[in-house]
Amino acid sequence: MIKHISIKPSYLEAKKRTNSKVKILTDEYIMNNELSKIGTNKKYYVITYGCQANERDSETIRAILEDMSFTRSNNMEESDLILLNTCAIRENAHNKVFGMLGRIKHLKESKPNIITCLCGCMAQEESVVNEIESKYKWIDVIFGTHNIQNLPLLISDAINNNELIIEVFSKEGDVVENLPVKRENKYKAYVNIMYGCDKFCTYCIVPYTRGKQRSRKVEDILCEVNKLIKDGYKEVTLLGQNVNAYGKDLDDNITFDKLLEEVAKTNIERVRFVTSHPWDFTDKMIDIIRDYPNVMPYIHLPLQSGSNKILKLMGRRYTKEEYLNLANKIKKEIPNASLTTDIIVGFPNETEDDFKETLDVVEKCKYDSAFTFIYSPRENTPASKMEDSISQKEKQKRLQRLNEVVNKYALINNEKLVETIVPVLIEGKSEKGNDLYSGYTDTMKLVNVKCDESDIGNIINVKITDAKTWSLNGEKVNG
Ligand code: SF4
Repeated sequence: MIKHISIKPSYLEAKKRTNSKVKILTDEYIMNNELSKIGTNKKYYVITYGCQANERDSETIRAILEDMSFTRSNNMEESDLILLNTCAIRENAHNKVFGMLGRIKHLKESKPNIITCLCGCMAQEESVVNEIESKYKWIDVIFGTHNIQNLPLLISDAINNNELIIEVFSKEGDVVENLPVKRENKYKAYVNIMYGCDKFCTYCIVPYTRGKQRSRKVEDILCEVNKLIKDGYKEVTLLGQNVNAYGKDLDDNITFDKLLEEVAKTNIERVRFVTSHPWDFTDKMIDIIRDYPNVMPYIHLPLQSGSNKILKLMGRRYTKEEYLNLANKIKKEIPNASLTTDIIVGFPNETEDDFKETLDVVEKCKYDSAFTFIYSPRENTPASKMEDSISQKEKQKRLQRLNEVVNKYALINNEKLVETIVPVLIEGKSEKGNDLYSGYTDTMKLVNVKCDESDIGNIINVKITDAKTWSLNGEKVNG
């Protein structure tokens, strides 16, 4: 038996950025006869926390586990392998994972042979791995965001060694191609176009947990999109922490607007992208969204704060005026576009006046919706070391005031759609029951629709009959 050497994360290493060239690795994933039998007659259960990048990673993890002959279960209690794909973006996500570990511990006590794995952004945090090593030793495998391809070997090691296996690299990162994928949705798919981030906004842990910015090659992205079209997919969402910076790390003079145009030219019926950083958003991008009918008129443009003082402290590299200028340009060129955003309230030392600047931007942009959060300090980020004089109670009040304004405009915007006809990609039965089906408009609004089962997987015209703050009701119209 070969003893596994623990590779633990390091904040210092994760922060480093060198000029070293990103490698495109195509033969990192090893699946041999022995590994492919490990899961025979065993079931797996994956829990995913956090953003679309994690959801997409879980699609690869599921495919790897199925290559190992594990079968999927919807019941954690009856599973032989439980894997938590974690998120580190806010404290709340952290707490949820540790709460879940408590539940899994009980299971492990009654079924000591179950294999438990923890991966994702929390696994990249030094303090989390130290805590697990001291208090949660019963976990079998911890692996990071840079080595998903090693999962079969890590599980095999855990079974053979019967001890906690830790393999978390804190390197800048490579691009690993040719990993398998088991997609969750039959009609719309996430396509990674880049990994990591080099922006180092002062509150954000992503540049430490996901490594430096690495763009995939255009030909690999187009190959994936073309395969999805062949498989009957109607919609792709191009994924990256900051898609507008796509290509800056490549030598071939490619930018995100060019990539978006190439993807639009494949004739996939719908193309979306997340997330944009306002700083890198070019006029050419606006032209492409306006000119290609299959690029959806939906733009998620994180604001974070409307105060120039706070934006500077956040390291966001744009001012309130520049943001508004961009939002106005988008609204002028693409009048039917929906605009959504992310906003943090209660960043250290945010005054009432700073907060009012944020409200002012919301009033001006009239967002279709917004993800709003109270600032949550992330260990080792520059913002976590800033002194803060604002009470939690005050932050909660501000969040409530902000949500009232956000909700007001979400409803107003939805009401404008009543009596109009909009295209909706029907995805399946609606949670509302009553023989309703649900799907999303081109502008990313959820609609509960009266239509037929045969419409699932198709983009149909829907007349909007009723508007609520977070959804619409409608009925299918022919033609
Ligand atoms: S651009 Fe986004 S992912 Fe990158 S550091 Fe800033 S907030 Fe984090």
